[in-house]
Amino acid sequence: MSQRIDGHPYPMIQALEQYRREGQTIGFVPTMGCLHRGHQALIEASRNDGNLTVVSVFVNPAQFGPNEDFDKYPRDNDRDYELAAAAGGDIVWYPDVADLYPADAQTSVRPGALADKLCGISRPQFFPGICTVVLKLFNLVRPHQAYFGEKDYQQLAIIRRMVADFYLEIDVVGCQTVRETDGLAMSSRNRYLTEADRDTALTLVRTIEAARRAFAEGERNAAALKTHLTKAWPKDLELDYLDFREPDFLEEEHQLKAETRLFLGAWLRGIRLIDNAAIG
Ligand code: AMP
Repeated sequence: MSQRIDGHPYPMIQALEQYRREGQTIGFVPTMGCLHRGHQALIEASRNDGNLTVVSVFVNPAQFGPNEDFDKYPRDNDRDYELAAAAGGDIVWYPDVADLYPADAQTSVRPGALADKLCGISRPQFFPGICTVVLKLFNLVRPHQAYFGEKDYQQLAIIRRMVADFYLEIDVVGCQTVRETDGLAMSSRNRYLTEADRDTALTLVRTIEAARRAFAEGERNAAALKTHLTKAWPKDLELDYLDFREPDFLEEEHQLKAETRLFLGAWLRGIRLIDNAAIG
């Protein structure tokens, strides 16, 4: 039976204490809700690792800019509970903003150079907001393992860095991107895409596939491939970045290698779309 806990973390902490005493390891899947199969894969991974699994559902105001979609971000708490429970989540926790950001809170996390690139350029508040809330959540849940998707690869790299920098005893587990049958990376925001949008949104995964083909055919020059990939870019898809980066520090890669990742960020009618994958 999955347990649903709304609001204040105390009942969740108390429930976890009991499991901890029994020697149970705790797995944690932080989410912003509106769950889909990508989230469920993280929950299943935690379950398969033998963890008592906590799923948090919290749309974090600190990671949204003033003109972004915080108010419009999809919320569906009852459905989320069903999907989290179906995937094997044991505790589904819905903190309120006041639980995580009480009026007297002052301190936040400022990530380093990993956060100053890719999504960090157009969304400067994004990674500080994520690190701050994830550290709060980590300290409340005190998981042994925490699960994050490679769909948000930069986020995963930054969280790993934060865990190392603050000596947190948490094993951060990265999970592969789950895609729709047409290849589109699953995202809570996909529900805003119309039929016509959807074809345009597929540009991201098609661009990754084109990069993979070019690499397989011997292309090694990142600048030349970038020019080729952006040549037929759809006008209504506002490109934020298309960058080849190495997988650890996300430094720009000029000579392409199998492990080089292509990172894409764009907006379609204001809907944020990102994707990334290794090209080899
Ligand atoms: P979000 O609710 O978008 O903040 O995502 C919560 C967690 O789910 C993050 O670790 C994401 O990287 C992960 N996630 C979101 N979409 C996917 C996906 N399509 N495949 C795998 N993981 C995902």
